[in-house]
Amino acid sequence: MTYSQKPGRVDGSLFGMAQSQFYAAADKLDIDPGILNILASCKREFTVNFPVKMDDGRVVVFTGHRVQHNINRGPAKGGIRYHEAVTLDEVKALAMWMTWKCAVTNIPFGGGKGGVTVNPKLMTIGEKERLTRRYATEISPLIGIESDIPAPDVNTDGQVMAWIMDTISMHSGYMQPGIVTGKPVAIGGTLGRTEATGRGVMITAREAAKELGLELNGASVVVQGYGNVGFWAAELLHKELGCKIVGASDSSSAIYCQSGFDPTKLKAYKSSTGSLEGFPGTDSVSSDELLELPCEVLVPAALEQQITKDNADKVKAKIVVEGANGPTTPEADKILVDKGTLVIPDILANAGGVVVSYFEWVQDTQHLFWNKEEVDRRLENILVKSFSEVMDASKRHDCDMRLAALMTAIERVAEATKLRGIYP
Ligand code: NAD
Repeated sequence: MTYSQKPGRVDGSLFGMAQSQFYAAADKLDIDPGILNILASCKREFTVNFPVKMDDGRVVVFTGHRVQHNINRGPAKGGIRYHEAVTLDEVKALAMWMTWKCAVTNIPFGGGKGGVTVNPKLMTIGEKERLTRRYATEISPLIGIESDIPAPDVNTDGQVMAWIMDTISMHSGYMQPGIVTGKPVAIGGTLGRTEATGRGVMITAREAAKELGLELNGASVVVQGYGNVGFWAAELLHKELGCKIVGASDSSSAIYCQSGFDPTKLKAYKSSTGSLEGFPGTDSVSSDELLELPCEVLVPAALEQQITKDNADKVKAKIVVEGANGPTTPEADKILVDKGTLVIPDILANAGGVVVSYFEWVQDTQHLFWNKEEVDRRLENILVKSFSEVMDASKRHDCDMRLAALMTAIERVAEATKLRGIYP
């Protein structure tokens, strides 16, 4: 009797979307079906429910997760998200994308992700610190310098990473800087990490524009989401390539100015007012209108599933650079590709963050730190090479860049899985 079982596909969910992207690419590769079944599932899914003492004396129980999708090429790597919409399904999808992201850039990590279902904006700093320290303790059986290394994601930052590092170090009795990346430089962080994801967006947009023969100096750019990734993408596209930033949004506002605005001043305005609304010289638009504004480059840098079958046809950009993870649904992707939009997929476009996280981990484990020029130079080399490998694969297989990036990544992870063999 033969036993065969395909991992259950989760339709209609984010992990289902990640799986459909995976199968679309895997079906084109000559890979053993057993190995593909391994890659279609998450290796470890860990859920924790844990109490936090609030300032008013109440005890509230929160739910968090840490998922390792695949660790055949190295320790799991991936951010931690604090958001009220976090689910295990979302964390699994993000973990799978991390595996492909590390493989497509050929850094020696597997994919992981974590998240807590919480709106941290409703917490005091003390409550957020206690939540972070307890969550770090709860997931400590999984995380470790050689096993699983968290980083910042939506609503988490260097301070949150510092608390996680300190909590784990308190348990071990000695400082373990390599347990997380995205830390402040004063405690083992690397120069260049804060802007790394945005820098990667800038580099991949530049390479794509070269491919299309599009002049980026003076080209219009719209950025959805003005957090870490969105701001740095806007800043570097403007300052280093001369792009005109004409539109930007955050979770509560969206603005437009055809002649462009200064991204640094917009950031300062948002920091002082808490919103983009009313930034001098700009008009308010709706969040739907923002994605449909006339521009050469659109950078979705907020959350997943923003470009859908309902708005993809109205996207006017020639290049979509996916700063966020999973911002384009598979149906929307097809619409964009069919009308000739060049979509630089998330696993390549926003890989700058994980590449510099890898540099941070290397520096921490060697106790030897590089200057910023060294970090930027190495990032540039890796991303230009990865972009060119994916572009070549897309020409060789006559397919879009997402499929080409996934095929490149899946082949690498499948090879590692096959070489290591199935234990026992
Ligand atoms: P962040 O918390 O710093 O910023 C997120 C921004 O998106 C905020 O300005 C928020 O107001 C805005 N936003 C939320 N919902 C929105 C909506 N519906 N419309 C418009 N704006 C909205 O988070 P981040 O670290 O910049 O992450 C953004 C995306 O990039 C996520 O998908 C994340 O997984 C991905 N990413 C982040 C990194 C990193 O290094 N931080 C690396 C790779 C990928």
